[in-house]
Parts: sequence; C-alpha cells; structure tokens
Amino acid sequence: MARCDQGYLCDVCGDEVESIRESDLYLRFVIGELPSRHLLAAPERHLRCNPVNSQFIDTAEFSPVILEGDFDRRLLDQEFVRERTDLVTRGWHRLQELAALAQTVPLPEYPLPEFRER
Ligand SMILES: [Zn+2]
Repeated sequence: MARCDQGYLCDVCGDEVESIRESDLYLRFVIGELPSRHLLAAPERHLRCNPVNSQFIDTAEFSPVILEGDFDRRLLDQEFVRERTDLVTRGWHRLQELAALAQTVPLPEYPLPEFRER
C-alpha cells in the first residue's frame, strides 16, 4: 500500500488489510466519500468487514456480501440500491485496477474521474 510497507490493521477484525484490493478506506476514497486528507486518520477496514458498503459490490469476481438488519440492501429503495450498486461496483473495479498499476498512479488520480479533486 502507498502509505506504509506494513499495511494497516482492520478496525473490525484486527487482521492486516494487506492490499488496496480489500480496503474499505480506499474504496470510499475512490467513490468520493472520503477526502484525501482523511486517508491517514480514518480507520482502515476490510471490504468484507464493512458490509454496509460491500453488499453493493455486484460482480462475478467478488463473492456477494449479505447484510441482514436495517441496512440490508434488499429492504432499501430500489432506485437508491441501483445507483449505489453501480457506484460501489465501479469503485471496486477501480481498486483492482489501481492494485495492478502498483505505484504508478498519483494519489489525486485514484478516485473515479467525477470525484477527482481539482
Ligand atoms: Zn477485517
């Protein structure tokens, strides 16, 4: 990961978040929900350890996360779910792309195009 060779520990399960591929923090950065100045201060989590977000990753390459309770996407407004799924899934694909590009992309270019800070 860009910040530190050692990776950061997950706020939920305590294990290391080994790659940006599984980082909830970077997913939220990529989809414009976390300003870059908060990247160092905000708690890190595995995608799977934050099902409120990761339940919206909808692709054959990611085994689905089911969340039961008030934030279960099956209970939410369908229009919201459709938009959220589109956004979070695009963010997930961007993360995989960034992991493959390794260190060649500067941080301000990590987010999806519409969320890049100018
Ligand atoms: Zn975890």
